Amino acid sequence: MSGTDGKGGKGGKGAGAGPEGPRWHVEVDRGVCIGSGLCAATAPGGFELDAARQSHPVRPECDACDDVLAAAEGCPVEAITVTLAVTGEAVFPPDE
Ligand code: SF4
Repeated sequence: MSGTDGKGGKGGKGAGAGPEGPRWHVEVDRGVCIGSGLCAATAPGGFELDAARQSHPVRPECDACDDVLAAAEGCPVEAITVTLAVTGEAVFPPDE
């Protein structure tokens, strides 16, 4: 309750950043996903399509990586949301 300001790190800057970089929380809005498969092609270890051709993240929480971000950016309907796991701060789409 008191005495610490520790929210997952030392150093106090770089919200959510750990020794190997930030952890991300990845979500796919299945109501928006049109099953194009682009995300799974862009980040094969990051996304999979199920039998209904709905995408889902292989690991909802993962280390930050360019492939997952590229997949989110490349989704034609912006169904993919990436936030910092620790703070919930938007990574993609970015907050305005
Ligand atoms: S790129 Fe977007 S629309 Fe296409 S499968 Fe992935 S989440 Fe769904």
